[in-house]
Order: sequence, then structure tokens, then C-alpha cells
Amino acid sequence: MNLDELFTEENFILDTSRDIAEQTRLDAEVYRQALLTLNGHYQRLIRESYRLIARSDRAERELTLLNAQLQRLAEKLEYEATHDALTGVYNRNAIISRISTTLQQSDAALILLDIDHFKNINDRFGHPRGDAVLQELIKRIECTLPGLASIGRVGGEEFTILLPATSLEAAVIIASTIHAALNVAPLVALPGQLVTASFGLSWGARHSCFEELYAQADRALYQAKRDGRNRLRWG
Ligand code: GH3
Ligand code: MG
Ligand code: MG
Repeated sequence: MNLDELFTEENFILDTSRDIAEQTRLDAEVYRQALLTLNGHYQRLIRESYRLIARSDRAERELTLLNAQLQRLAEKLEYEATHDALTGVYNRNAIISRISTTLQQSDAALILLDIDHFKNINDRFGHPRGDAVLQELIKRIECTLPGLASIGRVGGEEFTILLPATSLEAAVIIASTIHAALNVAPLVALPGQLVTASFGLSWGARHSCFEELYAQADRALYQAKRDGRNRLRWG
């Protein structure tokens, strides 16, 4: 819409009053009426301006609110895209991406762990109990981890712990702590028996490739399973 069209009436009144003002010999009543008309419209414009300012303030407040909601939604989506819904740790893609990024900047150690005989737990106690075991076991593991560690779920009951700038010796100590924590007492979710895991560890220098580091830990994990489970192996 042409902006002038919005003010057709006002423009008309302005033109009329200018015409009247240019004529010096009109009756005083004509000038008085023109002035009153101008005054009335001026008041209306002020009222309109107040209304518009209030409306624009309201719109700004609503926009700020919507922006905050959008921000929260974006954070929630980002969290859901990178985290495992059951245990809250990083999902497979997210942990792999973190490992690859870390290897570009420093050396790193990996701990791959797989719960022992987890299928039996599901079979004997049901899937929901299996889920509760997974959740509690991860909580217990997280309590033992140093601040720089990241943990991710890479398979059903298989998890990877990334330890940036950590030697293999230090990683073995960390994995031993997790191993001991799982063996110290049964979980509340499964009071009758211990839930243990087998661990495979590997270490890669800066710029080494993720696939090789992971395959090395996987081979070590397989060895730990073959050697009787509930133990650590490293390659
Ligand atoms: P092993 O000691 O050789 O690792 O034996 P396992 O029984 O742990 O290994 P297997 O691969 O045979 O079984 C893994 C089981 O984990 C099978 C699958 O149903 C279960 N599982 C995978 N994801 C979930 C999950 O989210 N919740 C539950 N409750 N079970 C799951
Ligand atoms: Mg298993
Ligand atoms: Mg498995």
C-alpha cells in the first residue's frame, strides 16, 4: 500500500488548511474552524501513535519470548540428536565424531566395554529390567570417570569411553577402576547378582585414524570375552 494512501484524510486537511492560511482576507470563523479541524486530527494522531507504540512494545515482548522458546527448542533438538535417550550418554554418531575431532588435536585412549551375558538378564528378568540395569550401570561408570572423559553408546550394551591426551597406562588404571566399581556390589536394579563387563583398550597418537583405534580396542574386547569376560585387555 502507498504510504500516502494511509493519510489521505490528513493530507486533505493539511492542503485545505494551507490554502486557507494563504488567503489573508477570509472571515475569522473560517480560520477558527480550520484550526479546530487541525487540532482534532492532531489529537487523533497522538492517540494513534500511543496505540501503535503499545502494540509494537507488545509485539517485541512476544518476539523475545518466541526467540527464547526457539533457542530452548534448538538446544533440545541438538541434545536429542547427540544423546542416547535411555542412558543420557552420547549416541554412536556423536561419540565417533568426538573421537575423530580429538584425534586431530591430541593423542587419545579408548575404552570399549560390553556388558557380560546381558541377553541372559533380559531373558530372565525382562527387557524393562534390562533397561534399568543399563541406566544404573552407566551412572555407576560415570561416577568413576575423570572430567575429560566422554562416554557414548555405540551398540545395544556396548559403550565407548574417550580419554583425550591419556596414555594407555593411565587408561588401564581408569578401566580398572570401572571394573572394580562393577564388581564391588550388585546394582539396585538387580540385587541378586553382579552385572559385569569386559573391556578392550587402545591408544592412538595425534592424527591417527579413528577406525584403527576402534578396531584395536574391539580386538582387545573380543580377547577379554574369550579369556572369560569380566576383565581388561589392551592392544
Ligand atoms: P556377551 O557376554 O558375549 O556380550 O553376551 P551378551 O548376552 O551380552 O551379548 P549379546 O550380543 O548376545 O546380547 C546383547 C543383548 O543386549 C541382546 C539385546 O536384546 C540386548 N539389548 C540391546 N539393547 C538393549 C536395550 O536398549 N535394552 C535392553 N533391555 N536390552 C538391550
Ligand atoms: Mg554383551
Ligand atoms: Mg554386545
